[in-house]
Amino acid sequence: MNTALYWFRNDLRVADNPGLLAACRSQRVLTAYCFDPEEFREGDYGIPRMGPYRTAFLRESVQALQEQLQGLNISLHIHFGSPGDILPGLIRKYGVTDLHLQREWTRDECLALEGVRKRLPSGVAVHEYYQQFLFHPDDVPYTTFDDIPDVFTGFRKKCEKRVTVREPENAPARRETLYAPAENSDLPGWEAFGMEPPRADSRTAFPFRGGEVAAWDRLQEYFWETRFLSTYKRTRNGLVGTRYSTKFSPWLANGSLSVRQIYRQVQRYEREVEKNRDTYWLIFELIWRDYFKYISLKQGPKLFAPGGIREVERNWGNSAEAFARWTRGETDSEFINANMQELLRTGWMSNRGRQNTASYWSQNLGQDWRLGAAWFQYLLLDYDVHSNWGNWMYNSAVGNDPRNRKFNPELQASRYDASGKFRRLWLQASLFDASPPEPGDLPTPAGLQAPPAEGLPIPSKS
Ligand code: FAD
Repeated sequence: MNTALYWFRNDLRVADNPGLLAACRSQRVLTAYCFDPEEFREGDYGIPRMGPYRTAFLRESVQALQEQLQGLNISLHIHFGSPGDILPGLIRKYGVTDLHLQREWTRDECLALEGVRKRLPSGVAVHEYYQQFLFHPDDVPYTTFDDIPDVFTGFRKKCEKRVTVREPENAPARRETLYAPAENSDLPGWEAFGMEPPRADSRTAFPFRGGEVAAWDRLQEYFWETRFLSTYKRTRNGLVGTRYSTKFSPWLANGSLSVRQIYRQVQRYEREVEKNRDTYWLIFELIWRDYFKYISLKQGPKLFAPGGIREVERNWGNSAEAFARWTRGETDSEFINANMQELLRTGWMSNRGRQNTASYWSQNLGQDWRLGAAWFQYLLLDYDVHSNWGNWMYNSAVGNDPRNRKFNPELQASRYDASGKFRRLWLQASLFDASPPEPGDLPTPAGLQAPPAEGLPIPSKS
């Protein structure tokens, strides 16, 4: 008798999850999620990998997943522990023959799988699925990942012309019998993560909850109720509030929503409401998301190297004082400070803000871009390894920007915050409704003595 274990990672949804669907073809199925302590420890630069905002969002997402799976009569085993310690035990206990999971390729994700493989009972088959892409790796018009172009436009045009986006899959059908009811299905308490839950800040541009249902509610609102999609390209450089952009990224990052689901909804919108440059532009941005994943598949550890994928020789600064001022929003630029305050207090920052603060840190201040990327990794609600490190390289003149753009924050402020509303929102003390974290509460980097991410073999296409 076949028994499948589905290991949820950055794919916390039941619909359009081909791996879960494949697992459900077995006679018996159970699922697991591990809150891996590694993810909450300090990373290479002494900054914790995951801070309170994303931790809260992740807890909500896993809880929502559990509710979805209950509806399908599938058990979810929730543990705080490394997958290598937890999963082999579950596999033995429940006679699992097949382990299914989303395929990942970056260092930490590969190490987690290696930890599991080392302790797998013999004979257990491992099945991995690429299910985080718009353009599936088996469909892109490149023989190997090495052939992915280093400039976005070439990639976009060729894929748009040659690739048909696959249909999203339905959720698995409800099972008649529940297998292996979870003994441990409670979420770990905050003490397990060694942090306090974040304080709510009413000024946040992301006042949403984690989970598949919440993601669909947001899509429903942005597309169908308000029709903001019709003006997306014109508003996407905004800085204040929930309307200027979709805010899909945190759900996309942990997989509560799939990119193919969004794509199909845009197509439906274009048929039923209207098709214009704005509706296309959302697809355009989703292709950027794919592109950074392909760049990371192509470049492997160079994604984390000081010279980036271009192997630029540069003596990066490593000033603790500059870092403290930048992270706390105490630089010479009010526009940079407002953005850094927003990130610190909410875990959110607009795309415009991210471009400016990254370019300021690495290009204006000449500081090591990897420290900035690690700070974003710690705080961002929507942290995604490929989008974060790829965009950081891009904005630090060591990545895929053929024009090496450097932002002038004052000009940017006059263009995108002409009335000063955004700066007032985050910098006027009288408007604060949440007390800022004490500076002592914030992590300080240990510096750059630690070795950068080590090389792991880059996977082949299929
Ligand atoms: P929208 O404008 O509504 O775009 C829709 C979706 O398109 C986004 O959810 C995202 O999935 C994708 N997208 C849009 N812009 C980009 C882009 N430049 N690169 C890749 N995908 C994009 N995005 C992350 O998801 N996680 C990160 O860790 C991350 N780090 C970043 C770091 C820097 C320095 C910069 C400049 C950008 C980073 N981005 C990251 C990309 C982008 O800023 C966010 O995806 C976007 O701001 C999220 O808001 P939204 O969902 O409302 O975006």
